[in-house]
Amino acid sequence: MSAQCPACYLHALVPVHLLQREDRSWRQWDEKGAPPAEAVTIDTCPVCFGAWFDQGEIDALGDGAVDALLRAQEGASAAPGAGARPCPRGHGPMFELRCPALISTPLDRCGACGGLWLDGEERRRLAAASTKEGQGTRKERLVRRGVIWAAQLLTHLPVEVENPARGTPWLVYALLVAYVALFVASAEGLVYYRDWAVVAGKVVRETSSVHTIFTHQFLHGSWLHLLGNAYFLHLFGDNIEHLFGRLRFAALLIGAGAFGGLMHTLLTQATATPMVGASGAIAGVMAAYLWSFPHAKLFQTVPFVLIQIKIPAWVYLVVWVGLQVVMGFFSQEYEMAWFSHLGGFVFGLGMTPLVLRWRRRAVARNVTVPAAPYARADSR
Ligand SMILES: [Zn+2]
Ligand SMILES: [Zn+2]
Repeated sequence: MSAQCPACYLHALVPVHLLQREDRSWRQWDEKGAPPAEAVTIDTCPVCFGAWFDQGEIDALGDGAVDALLRAQEGASAAPGAGARPCPRGHGPMFELRCPALISTPLDRCGACGGLWLDGEERRRLAAASTKEGQGTRKERLVRRGVIWAAQLLTHLPVEVENPARGTPWLVYALLVAYVALFVASAEGLVYYRDWAVVAGKVVRETSSVHTIFTHQFLHGSWLHLLGNAYFLHLFGDNIEHLFGRLRFAALLIGAGAFGGLMHTLLTQATATPMVGASGAIAGVMAAYLWSFPHAKLFQTVPFVLIQIKIPAWVYLVVWVGLQVVMGFFSQEYEMAWFSHLGGFVFGLGMTPLVLRWRRRAVARNVTVPAAPYARADSR
């Protein structure tokens, strides 16, 4: 199915085929070609992690009678409001279905086809409820049934489903190669570092060095500087390249780098020190990530195995921006380009909502809404 995600509208739903193992747990079928007939196919959004279940799919996955439970709750739910999410099968607005025995937040269910939408955050909360601590003292049979279903479905969903990066981030790779090549070239004396670096005092005086506002982002001062930037570009950049598209991603990097260079020129006190590095451009990518995936857990999107803490992206990035502001205004370390980081971040915050609006329109134009595979009438 290729309907638009009813929650974030940023991506077409992607089918995920699940196969049951001998021990009744589920694994993702990821080979090429058509999946086996016994596979259960759910539709997920790779941007917001939400998932769509056609009627019957939840019971097929959890061997429970969750559908019946949900249907029993339907009488109590109000008609869909103005802001209701549309059924991805094309049946118009869905009901907000309250089902406190399963989860505290309302679920979205289509009255016509009986399909169910679970937000990424709802899936996570159900998964949390399936741990011993999450269950607490609640003993109701219905809760347990919901929890068992959630545990089976969610704990065995492969990690790949949670990772919003799709496809190969070629532009990120190309940039990484370019950074290394230019670093080696400048170390070998083939490229003269001073021709590319922003020297704030010089840019203000000489029009011949204005180009450095654009060029400084491709050079790095040391291996450590290069490795740090490469890590963060790869961490945040692969998802943003996919979400923005290559051309807009390139515009984001160049724009954020240049705007950062400009802010550095206007605000820094280190007017004679050359400044290089992709940090400003990458700060723009971080802003785009913060705006687009605020709830993404950082250890889930990276194989950052050494650190086992799980923090939402927005916490990490708000702390990071705070640090740049404090250091920019109070630090004596003028060689660090705090204002370049802040400028790049501001550029990213400005550009991202525009790109996301374009993206929503483009996805809406390009998806088709397939017919429902289940007729609702025979199940009532
Ligand atoms: Zn979505
Ligand atoms: Zn429907």
